[in-house]
Amino acid sequence: MSDRIPVLLPYPFEGPFDYAVPLGAVAPPPGTLVQVPLGRREVLGIVWSRGQDSGPWPAELTTAGARPVSHNRLRPISAVIDAPPMPDDLRRFVDWLAAYTLTPPGLVMAMAMRTNAITPPPPLAGWALAEPWPETTRLTAQRARVREALAAGPLTTRGLAEAAGVGDGVIRGMGQAGLLRAVDLSTPAFTAPDPDHPGPVLSSEQRAAADELRAVRGFGVTLLEGVTGSGKTEVYFEAIAEALRQGRQALVLLPEIALSAQWLERFRQRFGVAPTVWHSDLGSRRRRIAWRAVADGSARVVVGARSALFLPFGELGLIVVDEEHETAFKQEEGVTYHARDMAVVRARLADIPIVLASATPSLETRANVEAGRYRHLRLARRHGGATLPEVAAIDMRAHPPERGAFLSPVLVDAVREHLGRGEQALLFLNRRGYAPLTLCRTCGHRIECPNCTAWLVEHRARARLACHHCGYSAPIPELCPSCGAAHSLTPIGPGVERITDEAAALFPQARRLVMASDTLVGPDAAARAAGAIAAREVDLVIGTQIVAKGWHFPHLTLVGVVDADLGLSGGDLRAAERTVQLLHQVAGRAGRAEAPGRVLLQSWMPEHPATVALVAGDLDGFMAREAAQRRPGHWPPYGRLAALIVSADAATDADAAARRLGQTAPKGDGIEVLGPAPAPLALLRGRHRRRLLLRTRRDIAVQPILRAWLAEAAIRGAARVDIDVDPVSF
Ligand code: ADP
Ligand code: ZN
Repeated sequence: MSDRIPVLLPYPFEGPFDYAVPLGAVAPPPGTLVQVPLGRREVLGIVWSRGQDSGPWPAELTTAGARPVSHNRLRPISAVIDAPPMPDDLRRFVDWLAAYTLTPPGLVMAMAMRTNAITPPPPLAGWALAEPWPETTRLTAQRARVREALAAGPLTTRGLAEAAGVGDGVIRGMGQAGLLRAVDLSTPAFTAPDPDHPGPVLSSEQRAAADELRAVRGFGVTLLEGVTGSGKTEVYFEAIAEALRQGRQALVLLPEIALSAQWLERFRQRFGVAPTVWHSDLGSRRRRIAWRAVADGSARVVVGARSALFLPFGELGLIVVDEEHETAFKQEEGVTYHARDMAVVRARLADIPIVLASATPSLETRANVEAGRYRHLRLARRHGGATLPEVAAIDMRAHPPERGAFLSPVLVDAVREHLGRGEQALLFLNRRGYAPLTLCRTCGHRIECPNCTAWLVEHRARARLACHHCGYSAPIPELCPSCGAAHSLTPIGPGVERITDEAAALFPQARRLVMASDTLVGPDAAARAAGAIAAREVDLVIGTQIVAKGWHFPHLTLVGVVDADLGLSGGDLRAAERTVQLLHQVAGRAGRAEAPGRVLLQSWMPEHPATVALVAGDLDGFMAREAAQRRPGHWPPYGRLAALIVSADAATDADAAARRLGQTAPKGDGIEVLGPAPAPLALLRGRHRRRLLLRTRRDIAVQPILRAWLAEAAIRGAARVDIDVDPVSF
């Protein structure tokens, strides 16, 4: 008798609760959205299936007092909601992810439901670009901004006016000129991307790779590795076209969707229309529309951030993870999961192909290629005959900057030379603000965040010291907070702001643009900045990692890395790998068109293997050496790793809980526990943090060990334990 059905609720319970089917009613099938009583409230949940949960969940991971409803109190379902059901493979994915990350399944399901998709949005007038777009039209700057703002999809008049920074009159004028068309945004007609739209002609190398991608049927992972500028995007577009031809949907994950303006434009060129965009900053209306369109199949291609993995695709036929090496795919807050790895899981559950694209594949993915688990396609040449940039290190010991400055004369000369030729230059420093440290020259005091184990970063333009971890900020003090000395606080080291000042003094004529996450405010700021660079309205770019992201800047020929040593020291085993990937990506911005590119790395230790590898262009060799170092100790990807972060308001509570975990640590062949030790940020947002690492051989799963361990340690009260399976830093 199935008069008792499991319903998963979006809360941290151990699993689904049972509810009764009202007398005479038909049991709603798994996936149905229902309303049920919970205590005195009415809540929404999803009818789940039995026998696929991986519980029981340790009590530490559930809210205090939450207990499954006992049998004799079985209450009936209140209502069945008329909404698209959650597809079977998505439910299995939710269960899988919950079990893998040791998260209560309801919290994972909540990510799939958190979309207010239940009620369809009310009617709303809006604007979209005319299709086809009259490419020949010359646009005023205002009209160009309107076009740009609509590239991601239709907007209301107000939304459009805000996004483009124009008045309503400009928009109406474009409507009258036939450049815009009025649309009803409540039921947007998603025009299906056309796989046979005439796009760019592929080179023979690109075509060969595209043909191989297109031929994959069913589950299979392919690493598409291509040097920067080789046209990986154009190649996986062909796999998307193939999925479309077969009547399937496609999902593309990008690490930072806010930085994807150029990508969207290329999609439009290839497929004639924009894809459906999905990310957490979408307004609730756009979210609802997109969610529904995915569910009812009118959205054929979705490009999104990691949360797009939880959309209710009914006909998913392909997943692409672009820039697969990016750590932005790891969600660190709430449910801790790696979107690249979980994308592979989702593809397996749906039995569809998945493409991982990168110029600098992660060690994990390389190991999977080596083990024969993933296919490997390579693009060795830049598109259109562009050559790879020449990379050289500047030994700062031999060519030091002037006192109080940070740019070596060698780099200054190079910038001058490139600017003099009318080309663009980029100064890269992955550090926001003016100076990372403020030191008192009298007593040696360093100004720290009161809530975190971190120095406060000076932001001179805002006249504040700020913490980059918790958001704390305070005015720059006149006197040293420790010894009271006046005129004694000194900024130490550079951030982009300081480099910008130095560059302004050196190159006063150059039109400068700072690209950092805190100088680019608003959703379209990055796109606009990139547009200005591509349009040659800028000579010198000073930027943080935001400039490293896949941009195509045809006139940029020189990249100067201000501090190539940044990130190479420190305890994190993965630091060198990440630094090499980042700097290689930055270097890849140079010389992407006819004029050859050049990259200069300022370093005080150019003999470091990471720098040597970058200069030699020998990423494979570098990664092979990294792999060789990790293999013997069973470090990832040659073993499995989970981090247990113990945190509490009081240090003593954190210590006690960490000790308890240490005492109850699992033992066994191929199982090792490291710690407890202070976590990398021993104080974060006012909480004291300790860390233990569980490392196992690859053939030993960490989840059952963790579950038993947490059950035995039974940490309760003031301390909390957060589990991070496959931590990105260790
Ligand atoms: P990658 O992602 O490999 O760094 P991209 O996909 O960004 O390289 O391609 C680099 C540039 O070359 C882009 O501006 C892209 O539009 C262009 N491009 C690549 N392949 C082609 C092609 N077959 N025809 C025209 N342009 C292309
Ligand atoms: Zn802080």
